[in-house]
Amino acid sequence: MLTALLGGTFDPIHYGHLRPAISLASEVGLKQINLLPNHIPPHKPQPEASTEQRLAMIKLAIEDLPLFALDVRELLPKASTRPSYTIETLRAWRQENGDSEGLAFIMGQDSLLSLPTWHKWKTLLNYCHLLICRRPGYAEHTDNIELKQWIDEHQTQNVQDLHDLPQGHIFFAHTPLEDISATEIRQNINNQACCENLLPPKVWHYIQQQGLYNAKK
Ligand code: ATP
Repeated sequence: MLTALLGGTFDPIHYGHLRPAISLASEVGLKQINLLPNHIPPHKPQPEASTEQRLAMIKLAIEDLPLFALDVRELLPKASTRPSYTIETLRAWRQENGDSEGLAFIMGQDSLLSLPTWHKWKTLLNYCHLLICRRPGYAEHTDNIELKQWIDEHQTQNVQDLHDLPQGHIFFAHTPLEDISATEIRQNINNQACCENLLPPKVWHYIQQQGLYNAKK
């Protein structure tokens, strides 16, 4: 069984994060999914919720879901003075857990398409497998030749490959399509539209209680 990491802004966490991840866990055989909230460097658009609020929402979302855990390493004071690069997080994970344990990094199709902008992206596979969740509105193919070649070199359709080696493969999962984004949720709430069906009820109540994203208290 593999351990997985799912990085994101989680501003807020929603069913588009949780449902594909749950489906992926049974498709691939994941023993745990560690949610990894990002530190947002000052030059990037800042999340609307504070770090504490993003964390509180994640905790509420997963408190009854033992598959999930929270990994706050990218928010620790040491990390908060500079961008949290995924490659550094993966290296640190390997130092703590050794080279033989299977590790997977989960991302949506949109993140895969943006991968060439990530720091040392091609070396990610030296530390983990990549599990890609489908996402409505994002093409399954890329025009970026370098990315396409890299995917072709490392892709597998055989789940067993993900267990035979601790890292190194890319797997496109058959996860459910969830047409949900945090941006849309924030806009809906700002427009006083109901979002109850897009995120866990406890998270929805927290947003209302905190007046987050301009929600009516
Ligand atoms: P925003 O709209 O603010 O950009 P987001 O909804 O994309 O946020 P993030 O926290 O940035 O959420 O996403 C974290 C990870 O979850 C990314 O890898 C992203 O591709 C994936 N993800 C988010 N929403 C979905 C979805 N509906 N289906 C599949 N993957 C998703």
